[in-house]
Amino acid sequence: MTALPFDNSYARLPERFYARRPPTPVAAPRLVRLNRALAAELGLDPDWLAGPDGVAALAGNAVPEGADPIAAAYAGHQFGQFVPQLGDGRAVLLGEVLDRTGQRRDIQLKGAGPTPFSRRGDGRAALGPVLREYLVSEAMAALGIPTTRALAAVTTGEPVVRETLLPGAVLTRVAASHIRVGTFQFFAVRGDVEGLRALADHVVARHYPEAASAANPYRALLEGVIAAQAELVARWLHVGFVHGVMNTDNMSIAGETIDYGPCAFLDAYDPGTVFSSIDRNGRYAYGQQPRIALWNLTRLAETLLPLLAEDEAGSVAEAEAALASYAARFETAYHGGLARKLGLAETRDGDAALAGDLLKRMAENRADFTLTFRTLCAAAERPEADAGVRDLFVDPMAYDAWAKDWRGRLSQEARDPAETAAAMRRVNPAFIPRNHRVEAMIEAAVERGDFAPFETLLTVLSRPYADQPDQAAFALAPEDGGVGYRTFCGT
Ligand code: AMP
Ligand code: MG
Repeated sequence: MTALPFDNSYARLPERFYARRPPTPVAAPRLVRLNRALAAELGLDPDWLAGPDGVAALAGNAVPEGADPIAAAYAGHQFGQFVPQLGDGRAVLLGEVLDRTGQRRDIQLKGAGPTPFSRRGDGRAALGPVLREYLVSEAMAALGIPTTRALAAVTTGEPVVRETLLPGAVLTRVAASHIRVGTFQFFAVRGDVEGLRALADHVVARHYPEAASAANPYRALLEGVIAAQAELVARWLHVGFVHGVMNTDNMSIAGETIDYGPCAFLDAYDPGTVFSSIDRNGRYAYGQQPRIALWNLTRLAETLLPLLAEDEAGSVAEAEAALASYAARFETAYHGGLARKLGLAETRDGDAALAGDLLKRMAENRADFTLTFRTLCAAAERPEADAGVRDLFVDPMAYDAWAKDWRGRLSQEARDPAETAAAMRRVNPAFIPRNHRVEAMIEAAVERGDFAPFETLLTVLSRPYADQPDQAAFALAPEDGGVGYRTFCGT
């Protein structure tokens, strides 16, 4: 039986794109969780995956038939510093499958042992970060935000050495591809124009097929990535997501959220929020993300210069014209999403200012980001529900003043209030992966081997826009408003 119907297009690219290398077996694999729905979407047999042969494959102890395991080469800017060689230091791409809709998807084991790109690392992952990525990436998918997915988590039965000894684990990650801005940088820095062209052609065929018939396919490719990233970052802002480590090696060419190391969600709204302990200058703060995405896209554009036109001046002009499209793409996506969050189906002058005024008042009053927008849904229908929103503001009158303007604007909408409230509930989640819940979940699993909180949280977060009254506690902000919460890079 070919349980995994692989078709490995990346492994057919030139040898210098990767190192061919199987995962390193582990002592005692045990399945923590299999994402059965995703397995089915991928056309894989969930029962096989959950059985001994499947678990061996998910742990890296057996290489399934048809797989062609490789560690991909890439470079990247890390906190603004260029590193010419990074690469998959602890991940192995097993191969690609065509899913039920015909989409090509990577199946990658993260934490699968050392590779030629491991540098001083051990190639392994600890259970805590694996569970964090599993949970948060699946929560993002349920929120409707483009993201890599989690197919499975297994424990290895081996410790990993970090500041302390921690249980080891392997995550099976599924992505449209693992090609990053840093992959293009890898070839650009080596002056390898043929490699660059092969990569760009691969990406056009795989992710931006419409670019192939454009007058300038590489310019169309660049514009495609720009559009996808502008949209993605806007979506992050709409749910209060802070990626935390937007290095160019962590920016997917396909426009998916990737790398869930130090990510976290806002509790109280403050655009300066930084969670990552290593982000000392706030480079990747919540409100910096749109700017940083453009910085990263500018690095991508630089790598494409040899392909964009015959001469350098022409290439620079093409790159600049493409990059100039970012601002409008982002603004449209961001303000469109904010308007929907406020229940506005039509567009009027002043809508962006109305949203901006609310955000300013939320920041001044430390209002919880998610709860404010969710409680507004009821307030759109019944002004009595204002009480629930007011309570979230240090000075409730700051809300009242804004609410008057908002009601004035809502009264111009054709939809009736019940319809407006229902539409708002489809874009303003009740449930996000609250940091205090994620930490408690990780602690239970790592310290006590108790995976029940992981299962519960995963179930609640699979329906973020539903009310789920019996799970109301999971919608609440932490008692202290999340002040001082810190995350650490999941290595
Ligand atoms: P990240 O911070 O996860 O984006 O990783 C940055 C780089 O460090 C990538 O090249 C990773 O493959 C590598 N890396 C991270 N953790 C490890 C590890 N435990 N062993 C080997 N390489 C690692
Ligand atoms: Mg990374």
